[in-house]
Amino acid sequence: MHPESPRQLFDLYCSLREHFGFAPQWWPGTPDEIALTAILVQQCSWDVAWDAVLQLRESRLTTLAALAGAEEQHIHQAIRRVTFGPTKAKRLQQIAGLVLERGKTSFAELLNSASTTELRPWLLTLPGFGRETTDAVLLYAGNQHPVFVVDAYARRVFSRLDSLPLPDKALKPAGYEMLRTFVEQQVRSALPLYRQLEFPADVPLEVAIFRDLHAQLVELARHHCHRNRPRCQRQGAVGWPGYAICENHCLPEICGRCPLSETCDFPQDAE
Ligand code: SF4
Repeated sequence: MHPESPRQLFDLYCSLREHFGFAPQWWPGTPDEIALTAILVQQCSWDVAWDAVLQLRESRLTTLAALAGAEEQHIHQAIRRVTFGPTKAKRLQQIAGLVLERGKTSFAELLNSASTTELRPWLLTLPGFGRETTDAVLLYAGNQHPVFVVDAYARRVFSRLDSLPLPDKALKPAGYEMLRTFVEQQVRSALPLYRQLEFPADVPLEVAIFRDLHAQLVELARHHCHRNRPRCQRQGAVGWPGYAICENHCLPEICGRCPLSETCDFPQDAE
């Protein structure tokens, strides 16, 4: 590992946090709703997935017992706007049944019942639970699982920051575990630096860091680091309506350019 790299990632995080701010409840909802959103958002936009969760909430279908006992068509009706609605309606019901079979009545109870090393492999066996979904549920729906969520946004941002000494192939989809482990090691090597910042006292420090690091990278990709025509030297794009810091960020008076534009290796005139 490059001796400077934990410090580099910390500096990058600080630049993002200074620019976007810190939102302790960045991913909204109860633990069950967070898990539902993580499933519904697969290949779907955030606002459609979150709206479906609100519809499920209105139909009193956000608990595992309610989902397991509901008619599949009622679940489908509530989530009909999400991509692959019929498949996801069936999955939600199957997942609710499997967690209940394990003797847990909610995701909060499930996630508090065992260690990350025990739960992660089991979650990966649930229908529709790939690595990204599993880690998002562990990190945001639970309070004791410090894992870094690797998503397309993180890969994109890291691919444009050549100075971070990433392992070979870490940015390929097959390199998921490599990139996750790399980021987790980087953060753990620099914990004294992160301790100088303010994080919620009711969540273990590493969980709070991995949540906010992931959130900041999503914000960066959403506002500035677009797949095409990134906004390196100009005001960021408007964010998701109603979504924590996103909606109100990148107003003319607070945003002039990407917070990483000084250190990024990507062409700065890409507009
Ligand atoms: S400077 Fe441009 S390419 Fe680099 S992180 Fe920012 S938006 Fe992305």
